Amino acid sequence: MSAEVHILGAGLSGLSSATILAKAGKDVHVHEIRSDSGARFDGDFQGIENWTSDIDFFEELADWGFDATEFKSDSFGIIDLIHPDDVVTNPKTEGVAFRVVERGTAEHTIDQAFKRMALESGVKIHYGVKKSPEECDIVAAGPRESSAVAYGEIFHTSHRNLVAFQLNDKLAPGAYSYLIIIDGIGLICTCLWRKQRNSGRYLDETIAWYERNYDLDREPIKRVGGKGDFGIPTKYVHEERLYVGEAGGLQDFMWGFGMRYAITSGVLAAKSLLGEFDYEKEVRRRLVPLVKASAINRFLMNRVGDRGFKMVANQWMRDQKRNGDGLNFMRWLYKPGLFRRALWPIVKIGMLRRKDLSDGRVVHRMPFRKSLKRDSWDPSIEAERVREQWKSTRSKGGAVSFKETDE
Ligand SMILES: Cc1cc2nc3c(=O)[nH]c(=O)nc-3n(C[C@H](O)[C@H](O)[C@H](O)COP(=O)(O)OP(=O)(O)OC[C@H]3O[C@@H](n4cnc5c(N)ncnc54)[C@H](O)[C@@H]3O)c2cc1C
Repeated sequence: MSAEVHILGAGLSGLSSATILAKAGKDVHVHEIRSDSGARFDGDFQGIENWTSDIDFFEELADWGFDATEFKSDSFGIIDLIHPDDVVTNPKTEGVAFRVVERGTAEHTIDQAFKRMALESGVKIHYGVKKSPEECDIVAAGPRESSAVAYGEIFHTSHRNLVAFQLNDKLAPGAYSYLIIIDGIGLICTCLWRKQRNSGRYLDETIAWYERNYDLDREPIKRVGGKGDFGIPTKYVHEERLYVGEAGGLQDFMWGFGMRYAITSGVLAAKSLLGEFDYEKEVRRRLVPLVKASAINRFLMNRVGDRGFKMVANQWMRDQKRNGDGLNFMRWLYKPGLFRRALWPIVKIGMLRRKDLSDGRVVHRMPFRKSLKRDSWDPSIEAERVREQWKSTRSKGGAVSFKETDE
């Protein structure tokens, strides 16, 4: 490998690769089309999961030489799990189930922390530059298409810190919504795994639901969101280019968690360029089984409505009662096992579509599913009020970082 390394994309996957390579003495250039790292996400909260490996993710970060105190994070061991029939239960663990971090361009975000660590290691980041994958050694360029979207509203609140996770096929078609409150700032987000004409109404109705059930004292600030691209490539190294993070389809198909996969795959790519192992083999050993398990879970979730979600929630709580640890169930979801392995060929045919990309790569993509009859319903009066409130916030300068046309 030449001493100069070029990386496409200054997201978490690109920056983690870059830092490790620069620390090993390489002349690393990262090319980023946006004006800053984190600009794809504008102040929203995201969770870094702690269940796909027995090792705590922050310990892994430390092993790789990253300083997790560089960014703000809040650990959670308990959530409100909202069943589709509005029953609330509490999966919990003694340890850390996940950590909430902020994305964006503010100093305390994880994106800016990774940018700082890269710069301190000697990485040269070129912002506002569009490059093609062919010009780079590592492709860390994030999503290309949409398989699902998420819409959220950020607001001021006096409510205590909390994470609530709601399985609900009406408010979040095929998926879930969530409420995260950290130090006076809240985020209500709904994820849509079936494509809708007027996606904003799902967010309005979801906010109305949380307002009815939590004392939120909500003052909207802005609306955020984004798309997720879910696909499994036939190979992770193509023409000597290494594909990492979301660009390589390395993220969770079930819930959309991708940060841990992005950083881990970035680290693996760097170490492989430094000669420690073969990226294709290592990514297949460490990450692909998790991605496949999550895709199988997503396939099953796509087949069930609220009745199936209720069964999942009940099973989760039964498992917690038996084991005394709510995290066990999440860990179990990612264990390949015989049943899931047997389902894989059906999932590949039933959920993924082969796509031949212009660069010669082949990806088995999950298309954005069509809406169903049950997705059209009349908004509640409360949801209409939420919409009016947002219109007023918007007219006073409330920003929107993701519009329905961005899909
Ligand atoms: C709304 C939303 C909520 C999410 N919530 C969670 C969560 O709670 N937990 C979690 O773990 N994950 C979550 N994810 C997923 C997670 O954010 C992603 O999986 C992760 O950020 C992917 O990182 P990446 O480095 O692969 O890609 P990105 O962060 O997308 O970085 C890629 C970078 O490449 C740049 N780029 C693209 N093309 C070019 C080009 N041609 N030239 C130069 N630069 C280019 C882009 O501008 C971008 O900055 C969420 C995603 C969305 C959309």
